[in-house]
Amino acid sequence: MISVKNLKKTFHTVDGDIEVLKGINQEIDKGEKVVVVGPSGSGKSTFLRCLNLLEVPTSGEIWFEGENLTDKKCDADRLRRKMGMVFQHFNLFPHLTVMQNITLAPVQLKLLSKEAAEKKAMELLQRVGLSDRAQAYPAQLSGGQKQRIAIVRALAMEPDVMLFDEPTSALDPEMVGEVLQVMKELANGGMTMVVVTHEMGFAREVATRILFMDDGKVLEEADPDTFFAHPKNPRLQDFLSKVL
Ligand code: ADP
Ligand code: MG
Repeated sequence: MISVKNLKKTFHTVDGDIEVLKGINQEIDKGEKVVVVGPSGSGKSTFLRCLNLLEVPTSGEIWFEGENLTDKKCDADRLRRKMGMVFQHFNLFPHLTVMQNITLAPVQLKLLSKEAAEKKAMELLQRVGLSDRAQAYPAQLSGGQKQRIAIVRALAMEPDVMLFDEPTSALDPEMVGEVLQVMKELANGGMTMVVVTHEMGFAREVATRILFMDDGKVLEEADPDTFFAHPKNPRLQDFLSKVL
């Protein structure tokens, strides 16, 4: 579904150039749940943002469903709609109700009529236990509710893959579980997922594969059992000794 070929990303800043991704190669199959872990600043968010071209790669290629997203001739907007993204800080539109947040993109892009979009939104809201909050504004919701709405908003576009960037890192501890539960249900439903997280329990339970990123590279990747029981790279061993 996603193929990443020698992906490199350099940011040009006033203090000089920083090479944040130093050549990443990955194949992500349909239905996989790939969890990305690693220290802060290792390039996890940049990697995720390159997958849907929120960041433009400096070099290398991103292929999605057989098309080269990094090719200038490619209609990246159309393909990107098939990639849902959920951020640490929810990024809901504060001046719109929950219902308006969810239906905005499908209606504006003329993928669904307003009526069909609202019907679909209600079904999705029921799935995450928030159908009674459709007319609320984001400020009236808890962090856990906001993040569940952000997930629903992404799902309303019927994506083929969902990208999550530390979706529970901004939440109070008692709200982490309800968001992880929604993500687990999504995973069980067969969704292809790429998840950056520090939730090692989630990684162990849900991941089909875990990637360890450090210093702009994927230093190790393995199934969860191998990853936690037999980490090979000393940097991963050190990382695990700190987070477990
Ligand atoms: P992580 O998500 O693993 O914490 P990031 O991908 O956010 O790491 O960042 C990796 C490095 O890239 C950091 O050193 C960060 O400061 C730098 N970086 C990220 N985005 C930008 C940007 N837009 N401009 C300059 N530097 C950036
Ligand atoms: Mg990050």
